[in-house]
Amino acid sequence: MRVAVLSDIHSNLAALEAVLGSIGTVDAVWHLGDVVGYGPEPDGVVQRLRDVAALGVRGNHDEAACGGATIESFNVDARAAAEWTRARIGDETRANLAALPELIAPAGSGFTLVHGSPRHPIWEYLDSPWAAEQNLALLETPHCFVGHTHVPIVFRERRRGGMAAAVVPPEGRLRLDDRRVVLNPGSVGQPRDGNPAASYVILDTAAGLATWRRVAYDIGATQAAMKAAGLPPRLVRRLSFGQ
Ligand code: ZN
Repeated sequence: MRVAVLSDIHSNLAALEAVLGSIGTVDAVWHLGDVVGYGPEPDGVVQRLRDVAALGVRGNHDEAACGGATIESFNVDARAAAEWTRARIGDETRANLAALPELIAPAGSGFTLVHGSPRHPIWEYLDSPWAAEQNLALLETPHCFVGHTHVPIVFRERRRGGMAAAVVPPEGRLRLDDRRVVLNPGSVGQPRDGNPAASYVILDTAAGLATWRRVAYDIGATQAAMKAAGLPPRLVRRLSFGQ
């Protein structure tokens, strides 16, 4: 099975279109939540994911968009964007986001999908080998995909015990073996690793291979739409820098 794994699209339709245009033939599209928030086109992104029958989970921004209390812990800009999203989305989008599960394990894939972490699906930032180890212990699948940090990273079991972390370079590849892994594909719509190009993973389960990809998209088009929508200037600027 060949799967495109996308995370943190954040209402950035131009980035999503560039990614979908680059994935080639796949058997499935998975997403790891934060479909909306920050960006200017929440309805368009949700519709596009429906078009490709994407299977996914709920992120903190999706929850906030549906009226969840998570919005209270957001910073000023994230909260402003979340309030804009809440007011802007259609009923169909809201129903779609509300129906997203917190955690799924696609049959036969060997992976669990979650936005934050298995123990705190909506909120935990899985950013250390220790956290990865503790979270893997809770799973029935060997491996896990997480999003939420917007940084492409691999946590892998070490032969001598414990886990190791490795930030993934552009076009990085990981051959899967008997060592358990937690993988983050990076963010499609708001990368934060200093590279503004959209980030995602192609997973080939038969070959046991995960490949990280970066795709340039029309950042200016998204920024112009954000400005026109009155979204916070800092959120507009950061897209240029991938921060
Ligand atoms: Zn996010």
